[in-house]
This record gives sequence, structure tokens and C-alpha cells, in this order.
Amino acid sequence: MGNVKIGVLALQGAFIEHEHMLTDLGAVCTEIRQSSDLQGIDGIVLPGGESTVQGQLLHKSGLFTPLRELIASGLPTLATCAGLILLAQEISIPVADRTKQEKTAPVTHLGTLPVTVRRNAYGRQLSSFVTEESVKGIGSYPMIFIRAPYIERADEHVEVLAKVDGNIVAVKYGNQIGLSFHPELSDNSKIHKWFLALCQKCGKHF
Ligand code: GLN
Repeated sequence: MGNVKIGVLALQGAFIEHEHMLTDLGAVCTEIRQSSDLQGIDGIVLPGGESTVQGQLLHKSGLFTPLRELIASGLPTLATCAGLILLAQEISIPVADRTKQEKTAPVTHLGTLPVTVRRNAYGRQLSSFVTEESVKGIGSYPMIFIRAPYIERADEHVEVLAKVDGNIVAVKYGNQIGLSFHPELSDNSKIHKWFLALCQKCGKHF
């Protein structure tokens, strides 16, 4: 994987952990903070964190439009947790759960993944948990959820890769992979390995 160059969106959140996992697998990582950083990447990781803040920073940094265009044209994308929220076409937040800020400043999202994501689906506070479930093509996988969303609705062309308690937590649509959980915080790098193989196969054809 030595010549695969992965951009890791580094505006906010858990991006370092993705970089460690990817470099351990032999990829070259570059941190994405402005549009010129997107040059020459084979794939991108949208990390977990705080999706409202990330969405705002995407606009401030000028990344929003070039990034959305690249992803829509097929750039392999691994989006975890807040990253999944950024990719989603539609976001739902239970009204009772909305903070003052969320009522007035909705999340800016890229909207390239035809799913509806329920934000903070497991509650805002007591919402972190770990479970082990099967991911299609990967096998049994330790899933770490932190104030996680789940996918309420997926378009018929979206491939469902995993469910927990009947709720969708992992999907693939073209070259976009969306996960509710944090694979970068587990000790299992199979998902990152699979993502790197997808990037290599794609070979910058986007
Ligand atoms: N709850 C966060 C959000 O809505 C996502 C949490 C995470 O990325 N671990 O942005």
C-alpha cells in the first residue's frame, strides 16, 4: 500500500487515530485543511468529532465545494460518525435533543450519500458503548460507538453492510463508505485495509 496517498480531513475531531492506523498499513497520509491539500490524493477519510463544527469549518476553509465535487465524482471516502453525518443527504435530530445552536444553525452537510442519518441516535450523554457485530465482507468487528448516529433510511442503491439492534450502522454507496462507529479506535484494522484496497483499485479514476 506504499504508494496509496490518503487525505485525512483534519479540521476537527479524531483524525490522528485514522492516520496511525493507515500509516501502520503502509499508506501515506496527508492532512486536509485547505483545498490545495486535496491535490493527488487517492482517497479521503472524514473522521468523527462534532459535525456542526466540521460543517462550519468546511465552509470557512473553502473545502466544501471542491471536496463535495470530488466525492460525488467517485473519490473513495471513508466517513466515520460525524463524518457520516457530513456525507448524509438528510439529517434528523429528535426535537427534544436539539441544542439551542442546532435549532438555529443546522449542520452543513455534503449530501452525497443518499441516506437519512439520525444524529445522537443513542442519546446525548449515556451513549457510548462497544459491541461486536458482523460487517459484510469483513466479518465480526468490534464497534465503538460515541454519541453515534445511525441510519434511519437508506436509498435502494445503498448497500447495507451492518446493523446493530436492527438499525443500520454501516453502508457503502459507490466509493463512499459510511460508518456510525469508530474503527480507528479499535485494534482491528480490517476496515482500513479494505478501504486502502478500494483506493488502490480505483486508481485515481474519479
Ligand atoms: N454526535 C456527534 C455529532 O453529531 C458525532 C459523534 C462522533 O463523531 N463520535 O456530530
